[in-house]
Amino acid sequence: MAETESRPTNFIRQIIDKDLEQGIHTAIQTRFPPEPNGYLHIGHAKSICLNFGVAADYQGQCNLRFDDTNPEKEDIDYVNAIMQDVDWLGFKWDGDVRYSSNYFDQLYGFAVELIEKGLAYVDFSSQEQMREMRGSLKAPGVNSPYRDTSVDENLALFTKMKNGEFKEGECLLRAKIDMASPFMCLRDPALYRVRYAHHHQTGDKWCIYPMYDFTHCISDAIEGITHSLCTLEFQDNRRLYDWVIDNISIPVQPRQYEFSRLNLEYTVLSKRKLIQLVEEQHVAGWDDPRMPTISGLRRRGYTPQSIREFCKRIGVTKMDNMVEMSMLEACLREELNTDANRAMAVLSPLKIVIENFPEDGQMLNAPNHPSDETRGSRELPFTRVLYIEADDFKEEANKKFKRLVLGKEVRLRNAYVIKAERVEKDEQGEISTVYCSYDPETLGKDPADGRKVKGVIHWVSAESGIPAEIRLYDRLFNVPNPAAEDDFTQCINPESYVIKHAIVEPSLKDIAVSQPIQFERTGYFCKDPDSQGDKLVFNRTVGLRDTWAKVNQS
Ligand code: ATP
Ligand code: MG
Repeated sequence: MAETESRPTNFIRQIIDKDLEQGIHTAIQTRFPPEPNGYLHIGHAKSICLNFGVAADYQGQCNLRFDDTNPEKEDIDYVNAIMQDVDWLGFKWDGDVRYSSNYFDQLYGFAVELIEKGLAYVDFSSQEQMREMRGSLKAPGVNSPYRDTSVDENLALFTKMKNGEFKEGECLLRAKIDMASPFMCLRDPALYRVRYAHHHQTGDKWCIYPMYDFTHCISDAIEGITHSLCTLEFQDNRRLYDWVIDNISIPVQPRQYEFSRLNLEYTVLSKRKLIQLVEEQHVAGWDDPRMPTISGLRRRGYTPQSIREFCKRIGVTKMDNMVEMSMLEACLREELNTDANRAMAVLSPLKIVIENFPEDGQMLNAPNHPSDETRGSRELPFTRVLYIEADDFKEEANKKFKRLVLGKEVRLRNAYVIKAERVEKDEQGEISTVYCSYDPETLGKDPADGRKVKGVIHWVSAESGIPAEIRLYDRLFNVPNPAAEDDFTQCINPESYVIKHAIVEPSLKDIAVSQPIQFERTGYFCKDPDSQGDKLVFNRTVGLRDTWAKVNQS
């Protein structure tokens, strides 16, 4: 499936159109600013597609900038994983990767400038005192006793902060704005704090680190970002964003615009919660195929195109909403229906013996795609002993069951019509083998005497088929909005991961990890990197049909 061709329209693109029209900007510069404290998830993909997509469509540029002001929570492994994910999604950042920490010297200089202008001060109040002085949404705050410290003294104190003469938590640099502002973020927000932490980029150079609100706007300005796109929770902070830019000597004026976050049903999209899932081992890791992370989706078998198409379809608005998982799956299914070759795999094998079939078997040929001849065909060994799905056989059944029934006929996909003659059972009374006969005149054609054979089932040769572990995944949570629960880990779906010991056709032996494949009648799959040597492991990416709608109604 091709991605939909048309350019999206949304309120941000309308703003950009206007800015270009009025000559406010001549070129568009955006950025994607992840904090390297976790892996990217599908929500980030929305922001990535928006930032890189806008830049590309307007012949502009998009930077990848790590917002790295929290050294204790950050890690170089996250930096690398994030770069890999952005690249895999198909986007190219402009020039080198940037880091907010690249600007620590300049940020320090701007903090000094604010102090010199009497717009920042060092505060030694305790956390408790600061909380009390902050007021509430209903009550104005109270000025700190340190608010009137002289400029010279503040400069000396800030230098001491930088030189490591204060303990963590002993003092903060705060902006002097307005303790009575209706916007809490303007009540003398913190600009710098003391942290004796090793930083993945700057090492031990700094023991003071700038706060997000101070860093982000200045980093945007330094990079010449024209449209700084972020999610709605930063709406109020825009006031602080503008205040900082207005009060420092920097020639450019980036503008912040907010859009709604992506929320997806039956999963969580908060890094804090995703970290918890990994750390408490509810999942196998960040790339567990049930995770909504880009790496989890990739391992599950999602393609970059399908994720980009999903982001296009959900659009960009200011309205918070919850998107159905089936929308993400539909994008993938549409793509794989045309792009995935077919193969046969039996997930719950039941042995059948075709007693009148020659001992030495026969090599058949099967098309790789039912409606695309250019995809060629593959060899398919057909033998006396085969496996079919246990579910595809019944001793007795009504007419609705269009599969194999004792005494009746069914077609084996890409092969002959067979008839079930008798069954053999083990000591527990379970069917162990179904003995069948075949009609040699039915390869690729209907029975000559006009017998109607309705059902078609898939199969794999027992002799040539290869064992494979198949991992079936389902939604990770059994409630649509796990984040709303007291403890979201209590609603993990225990059946979200089921292992099957399957037999697959021999052509799958050397398939590549990234190549999607449809197992006929079963779903779309991909080989997992856990496959090693003779061990084959497949992940079910998505079923053939939307089972969500049905499940949700019941
Ligand atoms: P979390 O809330 O999970 O900690 P975050 O917003 O702090 O995520 P960042 O690394 O700061 O994570 O995010 C980088 C960018 O991605 C930000 O601009 C942020 O607004 C955007 N983003 C994060 N989550 C979503 C989401 N669910 N939908 C859309 N954009 C998102
Ligand atoms: Mg953030």
